Amino acid sequence: MTEEMKGKVVAITGAASGIGLQTARTLVAAGATVVLIDRAEERLNQLCNEMGPTALPLVVDLLDGVHVSAILPRILEIAGGLDVFYANAGSYIGGPVAEGDPDAWDKMLNLNINAAFRSVHAVLPHMIAQKSGDIVFTSSVAGVIPVVWEPIYTASKFAVQAFVHSTRRQVAPHGIRVCAVLPGPVVTALLDDWPKAKMEEALANGSLMQPQEVADAVLFMLTRKRTVTVRDLVIMPTSLDL
Ligand code: NAD
Repeated sequence: MTEEMKGKVVAITGAASGIGLQTARTLVAAGATVVLIDRAEERLNQLCNEMGPTALPLVVDLLDGVHVSAILPRILEIAGGLDVFYANAGSYIGGPVAEGDPDAWDKMLNLNINAAFRSVHAVLPHMIAQKSGDIVFTSSVAGVIPVVWEPIYTASKFAVQAFVHSTRRQVAPHGIRVCAVLPGPVVTALLDDWPKAKMEEALANGSLMQPQEVADAVLFMLTRKRTVTVRDLVIMPTSLDL
């Protein structure tokens, strides 16, 4: 792998598992210094030890607004800068609205929407001052297609898409890019309760996506030249019919 991200500091939320973890590994391999943000302290420390000196752990519970507001000075303290912020952490709840638990929805919405927006609010002044930066979100195909079996999750990702589209235009004059990757189903802990074998049977190419495919999409977006408009990248298994 070439060191396309050499000299860049990237912070990733939800980096102790799944998509965030694989992206952290990919960006470290591409030469970046990566701050892995998660609440799973023990796992985070263990992973960073394995990944080497350019993987730096930052323990944050993203549902704690006070911690999220203080995220920027902590990133700068441990990594000495910030070029890319990847708002990736999220959780999932599916099922019919009438049978749902609104308290559980609140928790998911707080993570998928409020924590993501608050963390971007916390890091943007730094990027505006340095006149450059990239903000990336993990949205979902559910951010553009209303998925019938997961209305509350779909609502959270539509909110992410709305934020991405309007913020993108607001910060572009400051040299900051905002983009999103919108994956279909990816094999991570988030799909633990899904009938994965059944889903794979329904797919023409017989396989769900792996976190590496999302990590590659993020690397692709981050390494495009600034003269190229990088918008959102939808990545889906072949012929998945939502
Ligand atoms: P995952 O469950 O493997 O990883 C989520 C990580 O977030 C975990 O390490 C967890 O500890 C961390 N986290 C959860 N709550 C936190 C909190 N309050 N504070 C700090 N960290 C917290 O999930 P994943 O599949 O890698 O999901 C990452 C993102 O991808 C989410 O935004 C999800 O909505 C999105 N996404 C996933 C899929 C999929 O099929 N897996 C598809 C489309 C989009």
